[in-house]
Amino acid sequence: SSPTTAPELALPTSAALFERAKNHIPGGVNSPVRAFRAVGGHPVFMQSAKGAWLTDVDGNQYLDFINSWGPMILGHAPDIVLDAVQAAIPASLSFGAPTRREVEMAELIKQMVPSIEKVRLVNSGTEATMSAIRVARGYTGRNKIIKFEGCYHGHGDSFLIAAGSGALTLGTPDSPGVTEGVAQDTLTVPYNDLPAVQHIIEVNEGQVAALILEPVVGNMGLVAPQEGYLQGLRDLCTQHGIVLIFDEVMTGFRLARGGAQELYGITPDMTTLGKIIGGGMPVGAYGGRQDIMDNVAPAGKVYQAGTLSGNPIATAAGIAQLTYLQEHPELYDELNRITTRLADGTRQIAAELGLNYTVNQVGSMFSVFFTDKPVHNLADAKHSDTEAFGRYFRAMLHRGIYLAPAQYEALFVSTAITDELVEVYLTACREAMREAHG
Ligand code: PLP
Repeated sequence: SSPTTAPELALPTSAALFERAKNHIPGGVNSPVRAFRAVGGHPVFMQSAKGAWLTDVDGNQYLDFINSWGPMILGHAPDIVLDAVQAAIPASLSFGAPTRREVEMAELIKQMVPSIEKVRLVNSGTEATMSAIRVARGYTGRNKIIKFEGCYHGHGDSFLIAAGSGALTLGTPDSPGVTEGVAQDTLTVPYNDLPAVQHIIEVNEGQVAALILEPVVGNMGLVAPQEGYLQGLRDLCTQHGIVLIFDEVMTGFRLARGGAQELYGITPDMTTLGKIIGGGMPVGAYGGRQDIMDNVAPAGKVYQAGTLSGNPIATAAGIAQLTYLQEHPELYDELNRITTRLADGTRQIAAELGLNYTVNQVGSMFSVFFTDKPVHNLADAKHSDTEAFGRYFRAMLHRGIYLAPAQYEALFVSTAITDELVEVYLTACREAMREAHG
């Protein structure tokens, strides 16, 4: 059958805004992936959103599978969160002094993520991970950290390190501006390869402060930990006195109320949080064992601070969203069911075209890799046909489906996606897969 081509999207206002933006903002955007460089074309500027639907500045509507890269797990503009924010606004937007909601927020986080005994609020996931490794270094008196190829932990210098040619070579900076001195303290290994971790720990015995990972990876596309992997890391860290940090900025409150650590039953020493925790407002958090967290100033000597940390409006949004999640545990099964339909349906549509594509899913996160190889790490993910992915992305966008504009990103499903909307997605997917593969 011949591919159905979607009518050209009319995006004149987005196009004009992007031209203006490029004169004033590097690359025209305030965060690189928004520029659509990996898929071609120019970004769509958004005007508003409600539930599952985004509306752009030209009045086009899209079914949203990014959800602000994770935070909007209840869909856009849920009344419970908007009402909480509106109620908080008249009391002033910031004090720079302690407030009741910070205490309530800390109590709520501890209830939902029991490995956290003490927690500090910050303003982004980047701040959370940067602070967590500083604390781990202060606590252990060691300098090095281990991270995994393809895991993203925000843009802190220590995390912008690629592996170099061999897994055991010292890191080289991924970005100009990150010094070699910093890079030398970041050791990188492939994900899902326990012997590689064991080896690098042994080679650097007594020097590794922390091992940080996404317990389910969302930043090379969606990659799940293999059977026994997280337990293996837990054991190695315990044996060698290394602080195990789960970066649950994406997975926290998403894969279960208590995140990936609840789902897989593994207890890290520290956890970093972001995204969902703020209900769409800029919030992050790091926390963990009390003996570690009591090193944070002013209780201890490791300095970390923030003018707007624990902001009253941000905590109002965060408390409202987290409370809803805590009180509705059944929504996780429903998110899983809906996402399984999306993932299975996509896999089947690709198969109908003779494409044995790999679709990875955990809970309400999934990725369609344009490769027939299983994807367990970054090297596997890189087998993907990114050209075909770009054509697919554009074909979906033109059919009103808003996907992440890059192959190496996960999709985030919200509770606003109903069975009916799954059908809308699958119909578009069938046409777009055909169009992308000529
Ligand atoms: N850690 C993980 C796992 C992330 O996915 C991200 C962002 O996508 C971050 C940290 C950084 O968070 P932020 O963008 O809020 O600084």
